[in-house]
Amino acid sequence: KRQWTLAKRPHGVPSTDEVTIEEKTIGELPPGHLLVENHYFSLDPAIRGWMSDAPSYLPPIPLGEPVRSTVCGKVLASTSDGFAKGDLVYGMGAWETHGVVPAEFFTKVPEDNTFPLHYYVNMLGAVGLTPYFGVIEAGKAQAGQTMLMSAAAGAVGSIGGQIARLMGLRVVGMAGSDEKCRWVTDELGFDDCINYKTCGDMVDAIAKACPEGVDLFFDNVGGEILDAALMNLNSDAIIVFCGAISSYNATEPVPGPYNWWQVLARSVTIQGYLIKDYFDRFPEGQAQMSEWLNEGKIQFKEHMVDGFDNTLDAFSLLFSGGNEGKLMVKLEAA
Ligand code: NDP
Repeated sequence: KRQWTLAKRPHGVPSTDEVTIEEKTIGELPPGHLLVENHYFSLDPAIRGWMSDAPSYLPPIPLGEPVRSTVCGKVLASTSDGFAKGDLVYGMGAWETHGVVPAEFFTKVPEDNTFPLHYYVNMLGAVGLTPYFGVIEAGKAQAGQTMLMSAAAGAVGSIGGQIARLMGLRVVGMAGSDEKCRWVTDELGFDDCINYKTCGDMVDAIAKACPEGVDLFFDNVGGEILDAALMNLNSDAIIVFCGAISSYNATEPVPGPYNWWQVLARSVTIQGYLIKDYFDRFPEGQAQMSEWLNEGKIQFKEHMVDGFDNTLDAFSLLFSGGNEGKLMVKLEAA
C-alpha cells in the first residue's frame, strides 16, 4: 500500500519534506479490525492541528505514522462481527490507499443509502453535521436573530449559513473573494456577505451588514475577523468557537483577541465546539440532512481532487482559500 507519512512536525504549511509518500506492506489483520480500500479522503483544516504536537482534543499523529483523516471506502477483509467483505464504510482512517483499522472507528453505509459514497465524508459525515449541531445545539439559534458566519463559502460555513436561514435567522457571511460572496448570497440565500480582504475597516463593514448587531457568531477563522466580530456583538450573544484557521500554520505564538473585554461587557457566551461530542447523534443529523438534500433545500459545492499523489498539494488550498467548497481526494480505487 501507499501512504502519506508524517516525517517531521510541519513548520507552516506542510511540505513534501515533512509529509512524504511511502510504500508499506499490508500487515496481518488483528481481531476486531478491517482492511479498508480507501476511495475518498476528506481534507480538513483540523488535520493540520493533528500534525503538530500541541495539546489538543486528539493525540498528535505520531511521527512515522500515516496522516489521520476521515475516509470512506470498501471493506476487503474483516475480523470484526458486523462487517463483511464488500461493505461500504466511512470513519477515521488515514491518507493511505489501504488501511488496517479498528472496526470501532468505522460505520457501515446504510443498505438503503441512495447518495454517492463520498457524501459520507461530506454532507452526511462530520463536515455536514458540524454546522448542523453547531448552529442548532452549540449556537442555540433562534428565528429572528442575526448570525455572522466566517469562512462562509467553505464546507462548514456554507452549510451552516443555509441551516440558519432555514431556521429563520438573518445570515451574514464573511469570505475571501467577491465570487465566493456572490455564491453565498445569490445561490445559497445568505442575506449579505462581506469580502474581508477588500472591505476596509472590518468592524464598520460588519456593523453595516448587521444593523441590529450580531446575536450568534459562528467562527471558523479567529484572528482579525474574531476581533472585528467582538465589536459588533449584542448583549448575551453566543460565539460558537468552531475553528481558527487563520492561525493553524502560525510559526509564532498568535496574540489577541485584542477586543476580549467585549465578552465581559456584553455578557457573551463562548462555546468551544467539537463535532466529536455529537457522534452518538449522527443518525438524527443524517436523517435531517438527507431530507433537506432530497428536498433541494441545501446546496453545496464539492472540490474533488483526483489521485492519491495530489493529496498534499490539495491540502494547502484550504489555507490559501483556493478550495471551492468541500475539499476531497478521489483515489484510484473509487
Ligand atoms: P473550508 O472549506 O471552509 O476551507 C477553509 C477556508 O478557510 C478557505 O477556503 C478560506 O476561505 C478560509 N481561510 C483560510 N485561511 C484563512 C485566513 N487566514 N483568514 C480567513 N479565512 C481563511 O474548510 P472546512 O469547512 O473544512 O473548515 C472550516 C472550519 O471549521 C475550520 O476552522 C475547521 O477547523 C473547522 N471545523 C471544526 C470542527 C469542529 O468539530 N470544531 C469540525 C470541522 C471543521 P476564504 O477564501 O473565504 O478565505
